[in-house]
Amino acid sequence: RARRDSHKISCVSKDDSPVHGVSEMVLRVLGGGQLGRMLCQAASKMAIKVVILDPLENCPASALSYDHDRCGVLTVEIEHVDVATLEELEQQGVDFHPKASTIRIIQDKYLQKVHFSRHGIPLPEFMQIDDFEGARRAGDLFGYPLMIKSKRLAYDGRGNVVAKSEEELSSAVTALGGFGHGLYVEKWAPFVKELAVIVAILSCAILLLKQFTSKMRFSITFKIEEYEIQENICHIVKSPAVVPWKIRKLATDVAYRAVSSLEGAGVFAAELFLTEDGQILLNEVAPRPHNSGHHTIESCYTSQYEQHLRAVVGLPLGDPSMKTPAAIMYNLLGEDEGDHGFYLAHQLIGRALGIPGATVHWYDKPEMRKQRKMGHITIVGSSMGIVEARLNSMLKEDSSDSQ
Ligand code: ATP
Ligand code: MG
Ligand code: MG
Repeated sequence: RARRDSHKISCVSKDDSPVHGVSEMVLRVLGGGQLGRMLCQAASKMAIKVVILDPLENCPASALSYDHDRCGVLTVEIEHVDVATLEELEQQGVDFHPKASTIRIIQDKYLQKVHFSRHGIPLPEFMQIDDFEGARRAGDLFGYPLMIKSKRLAYDGRGNVVAKSEEELSSAVTALGGFGHGLYVEKWAPFVKELAVIVAILSCAILLLKQFTSKMRFSITFKIEEYEIQENICHIVKSPAVVPWKIRKLATDVAYRAVSSLEGAGVFAAELFLTEDGQILLNEVAPRPHNSGHHTIESCYTSQYEQHLRAVVGLPLGDPSMKTPAAIMYNLLGEDEGDHGFYLAHQLIGRALGIPGATVHWYDKPEMRKQRKMGHITIVGSSMGIVEARLNSMLKEDSSDSQ
């Protein structure tokens, strides 16, 4: 049982004698993919025990998790979870972060858009579509290309199809499984860069006089990142983003306002579009550590994983500033199925090991598939030019020369 008392944490052991520190802390995480695995790695440094709840026995986080289940804080590394059960658990008094209400909003992208537009967050225009007539109307209103999205269960762009013209509406809707599962459209965002801002929120109950409890929220932001998406999947993240100071401030402000409208503690990532005319539009928010923040493990004093743990168990937030001037994260995506895919990945890892400032993360997924996230490589260095040159050298297949 953990009690939050201002910024200090004190745990009460079974026999109710107070135990200070975090060694009694047990955190349960729904989902055992690579994000869960990196949460476990950060937790082990802080003596926080993590129980992973995942239907897959050999999921990437399984080998690193603690298998003794006891009462503790519950969190997620994926938003596609059964939210009705979470709400029930919350009612039974389970300490869950972020709140089930947040997961309910985020896991339905249409609901998410409605929520953020009500909070005055700038977004691409959007509209629910229930039939072809509605889809055509949306096309007339927003023009083409038109982004058609599934409301639920979307990740890595699976759930997005672009219709370049009215003629493509029918095939796009079919590719998404028809209208039955819930679709909506977004006006095309003419972005020049995609940016991400990671915000950590710590909420703690402060006991005031007369037993009046008030919730306070502290927040802290990481440096803003820019990332490159190809075929809907993130390939490269650069930190810090190479954008003017004004854009940095605007992006941080939009991200902060969006995240502040959600309940519960933890790390949140706001995915943003920077448009040609200098506007910032929100794409979506992830209520958890995010692919765009993998580099923080090597490049920041406190990684996004450690920060998430600190926030959800109620410890003071750590320093999110970068301890290296520049970082690039390269996603190791499956290039082929099976053994040949593993061979290509191992070749790349071999080259990465010869690059100064490079760290390899392999997720230990049992199966290799095309475009599947199998691992990532972070390269840090004294300037963005230097880390870019190191990345290019790593990607050159015929040479293992390094900078
Ligand atoms: P994630 O893995 O980040 O959860 P997802 O499946 O939820 O991805 P989105 O983030 O909705 O997918 O979109 C994936 C990518 O598609 C975006 O990063 C962006 O490159 C592009 N995209 C999404 N919406 C739009 C839009 N309205 N206009 C233009 N491009 C878009
Ligand atoms: Mg998403
Ligand atoms: Mg996204």
